[in-house]
Amino acid sequence: MFHRPLLGPLSRVLLSGVAPVALLLCALPAEAASALAAWRIARDGALELRTSPSITLTAFYEAGKGGVGPRIWIDLPGAPSRTRSIRGNGALKEIRIGKPDPNTTRLVLEFVPGTRLNPRNMRLVGTARDRWRLELEGLRSGSIASLGEGSLEAPTVAWSRPASTGPLPSVPRGRFTVVIDPGHGGPDPGAIGIGGLRETDVVLDISLQAARLLQSRGVRVVMTRTSEVDVDLPPRVSLANSSRAHAFVSIHANALSMARPDVNGIETFYFQSSLSKALASSVQREVVGVSPGSPNRGVKPGRFFVIRRTVMPAALVETGFLTGNLDSPRLATASHRSQLANAIARGILNYLGGG
Ligand code: ZN
Repeated sequence: MFHRPLLGPLSRVLLSGVAPVALLLCALPAEAASALAAWRIARDGALELRTSPSITLTAFYEAGKGGVGPRIWIDLPGAPSRTRSIRGNGALKEIRIGKPDPNTTRLVLEFVPGTRLNPRNMRLVGTARDRWRLELEGLRSGSIASLGEGSLEAPTVAWSRPASTGPLPSVPRGRFTVVIDPGHGGPDPGAIGIGGLRETDVVLDISLQAARLLQSRGVRVVMTRTSEVDVDLPPRVSLANSSRAHAFVSIHANALSMARPDVNGIETFYFQSSLSKALASSVQREVVGVSPGSPNRGVKPGRFFVIRRTVMPAALVETGFLTGNLDSPRLATASHRSQLANAIARGILNYLGGG
């Protein structure tokens, strides 16, 4: 039997703005010893859990085979007062609350045979001390939105490619040019994070490594800066636009406030074009893949100058929060910056290769 932890034990991270509408809300009896207080499938298709505070839980995935669909299950401490199963609809066949042993509650999501799920694109993230969210990324949003209304379409859903860990893909040597834009520089340090960690230093290191990796795979790379110098935004765009590049990727790190170390996560921006969105999605997927536990804040439209004024497909990736208690120590670590560089290069190569 193939199963492995999706991510666990999981860190708890507070995220703002999680206020989905409950379509299915099943409160368990308060006296239950189970740490699972309630669960629901939100309107956007994410599974949300309310639990006892500060618990550790573990999520698993099992691929479907034969006439059995894939399953996701989450084990929580404590036993439920009773076990039960609830019929799902569409791609979601059934939800079960089980007791695999006297001290465990197991919440199982069983999908219909043939549903294609990709565990590498799912992450279970703590959104508060007692809240959890499992994003079933890749399901068409329309099909998820109707969950709970009895009209979920057949599972023809196309799941995203996995974030891979093998050797970086190659592209035909000399065919592609990519602009790497390390954010900020020189007198503009960008964001300043925990322990004085400076965005400019973090993103320059990541950018230089990503550029070398891309070059090693046959890509011609143009960098908007290679040292701690100040480059204004218009020259970055002019350089990119005159380079006949096939992709532009600006590399940044986020910051919120020193008072919000609870906010962490990865996000990638694009401006309008579907190719830019594809590039952003490809980069986001890989960066999330090397940042376990850090919330996937998604691929979003953005109006940043460098992605708005460049003429080629362009994305701006925020590799984590310098002010976040999870992201910041990682961004300060050379090995993690190397992983981020590898992930960004992989995302770009997958995009160029049509992946
Ligand atoms: Zn920045």
